[in-house]
Amino acid sequence: MPGTATPSARAFYHVAVPLPLRSPFIYSAPKDGTPVLPGMRVLVPFGARRITGYVIGLAQAADAEGFRVRPIARVLDAVPSLDASLLEFLRRAAEYYMHPLGEVLRAALPPGINPFEKAGQFHEARIRQKFETVFTARPMPEDAAQEMQRRAKTRWAVYTHIAAHPGISSAALRSRWSTCAAHLRRLTDDGWLDAQQQPVVGDLFAGLDIAPDTPPTLTDEQAAATDAIVAQIRTGQYGGFLLHGVTGSGKTEVYLQAIAAAREMGRGALVLVPEITLTPQLVRRYMARFGTELAVWHSGLSDRARYDAWQRLRSGEVKMVIGVRSAVFAPLDNPGVIIVDEEHDTSFKQETGFAYHARDLAVLRASMSQSAVILGSATPSLESRHNADAGKLRRLALVTRATQRPLPHIEIIDLTQHRSGPGGQTLLSAPLHRAISETLSRQEQVILFLNRRGFAPTLLCRDCGEAIRCAHCAVSLTYHTHPRGLVCHYCDHRQSVPERCPACAGTALHPVGIGTQKAEEILRELFPAARIARLDRDVGSGARAEAVLDALRREEVDILVGTQMVTKGHDFPKVTLVGVLQGDVGLHMPDFRAGEKTFQLLTQVAGRAGRSTHPGRAIIQTFNPQHPAIAAAQHHDYARFAAQELVDRAELGYPPFGKMVAIRFNSTDADAVEAAAKGLAQHLRNAAKATGTDVTLLGPTPSPLSLLQGRHRWHLLLKSPRQDWNRRLLLAVVEAIEAPPKGVRIHVDIDPFSML
Ligand code: ADP
Ligand code: ZN
Repeated sequence: MPGTATPSARAFYHVAVPLPLRSPFIYSAPKDGTPVLPGMRVLVPFGARRITGYVIGLAQAADAEGFRVRPIARVLDAVPSLDASLLEFLRRAAEYYMHPLGEVLRAALPPGINPFEKAGQFHEARIRQKFETVFTARPMPEDAAQEMQRRAKTRWAVYTHIAAHPGISSAALRSRWSTCAAHLRRLTDDGWLDAQQQPVVGDLFAGLDIAPDTPPTLTDEQAAATDAIVAQIRTGQYGGFLLHGVTGSGKTEVYLQAIAAAREMGRGALVLVPEITLTPQLVRRYMARFGTELAVWHSGLSDRARYDAWQRLRSGEVKMVIGVRSAVFAPLDNPGVIIVDEEHDTSFKQETGFAYHARDLAVLRASMSQSAVILGSATPSLESRHNADAGKLRRLALVTRATQRPLPHIEIIDLTQHRSGPGGQTLLSAPLHRAISETLSRQEQVILFLNRRGFAPTLLCRDCGEAIRCAHCAVSLTYHTHPRGLVCHYCDHRQSVPERCPACAGTALHPVGIGTQKAEEILRELFPAARIARLDRDVGSGARAEAVLDALRREEVDILVGTQMVTKGHDFPKVTLVGVLQGDVGLHMPDFRAGEKTFQLLTQVAGRAGRSTHPGRAIIQTFNPQHPAIAAAQHHDYARFAAQELVDRAELGYPPFGKMVAIRFNSTDADAVEAAAKGLAQHLRNAAKATGTDVTLLGPTPSPLSLLQGRHRWHLLLKSPRQDWNRRLLLAVVEAIEAPPKGVRIHVDIDPFSML
């Protein structure tokens, strides 16, 4: 009825809320008449609370009929937080992963920007902002300069330093001249300096002082790859590439050239890297080429720094971001190229909550934004390999190292033949011991890799055979010596070392097995003259880990022993020997990707050796020398490994041939979780029968990690040739998934990685 004040004259909006509710809610326009646009954050009444939601779009009046529609309480954005293309990308992501859109949108925005309500009081979210004073120099006439040089040497030094470093902070100046405050005041008062207040960015990467580089002459292989990618970028159309390049083949240079091509077209660039490789060393390479016009996105950022990075991107101030997994959601306008380095790396997979795979979303985002996508790796995932075989990705190969260094020679040591080495210890076989001695005598460096931190993986009672276990998880506690105690590597529960066995009260508790702390101790005994350092999560991450790697780089360390953290990172020219102490650690995991992960890891580790002028060598100790993953790694034979593994996967219908979904159940109540898993399985079987869908159900079974953080766990796997078949089946039981039995949580993981 036109002209009358019926509800249909009001505007209605679909609003997604960050709660495990699949469909958006409908609200009417705010009473104060503030304009509402899709992508804006709004405060909406929800039950008795008010929560932040995200406007998805206009709703029809008919959609609102029959509901008590309440108005939006407040519009939180003047411009939408999410632009239309990002909103659409996230909508598609939420749909693919069957995850509530509101939660997906929240995951895509920097934390801490939302206002919140506490005890009935509404609080504007204020990300704490710290300011510092920064200085720039004004030109000084010659006579004044000479006068100051003569009469106030320190003040002159401060002034010239600022002139050479415009925007330098007072903190940085104070660290150089502890008494510079008076000079700064005087210089400012005399008009030679400009002082400004600027927000502090708490960032490992801020203030890197970087000299610009000149691009090297590309190798023929690099040039061919670059030409293909640049040609694609210039078309302004989507195109996907698999850049398969051996370690040290110069993939980064190809990325840099691709980014330059995108920038020439006025488009942006998004670079995703594994958390572990996002080091100042790496960022430096990008800054050396493109200056500081880039945002760095990693988990160590403060909320403030993350928000700043997000703002700089959203405002278009910077058009390039390098970051970890979640950077795939960066508000980058119009990316021309999206790069996923080490695309096989498992850290791109989010395991909890919105369980997305950043590599797969990178491909989706590229296709939606008509940009090129480059998946780079020395050991491509079988999924990407398969996509290349199927023509979905164009394969570009770099088979030689850019520096023309040969790949390291890899030797396999059969531990069944070398039970113990010099001194009777079981850490180093005689051949590896000898190789270390030789390397040290040439003044070269050694990296030793052991995928277990702590001192010993178990504290075992020799009387009754019990291992001391975590009270909350179905795993044994790891014995640590610095500081001394037992630690659960799954939930971080810590306890002191008991005097007596909790099971039999005996006193025969002994550490069994070797972790990095014990390895370090043994190495000190075997090589007393060597400078030995350790790197694992107990040493620290971020700046602390960097300090250890810097010491290695400066050749202040002869032997570095550690976990995964030593396997990535950048060139250490004097590292000529890499030893893998237990090459089969991951091989016996209940995971169909165990072989693939082992192959990738061994290739990665071995690739650390001999990257510069000194030839490199890698030694892998293993109890399974014949295993295909280990044999293929020894011969740098990705093709053979992939071919064999793909045959096996095809036979079993595993990815990349079959598509999987994991449904995980957990509860503090063991019976409730079992009943829930069995109930849903039955429900799914019925639905499969009713709809005639060809989906295989595996399980339900207790998860291999059957207790975690005090919660009992079961899982159920779906496997079928097509993901939409799985999805259709899940949609048939979606109500049961959304409303699990009391006390039970259900998590759906599309294309799961973890089988634990
Ligand atoms: P990848 O990422 O493939 O392991 P990098 O990009 O780290 O390899 O390159 C390995 C080394 O080779 C680096 O030190 C890099 O500076 C150097 N490099 C790359 N391209 C060239 C080139 N065209 N000429 C000379 N050196 C190069
Ligand atoms: Zn635990």
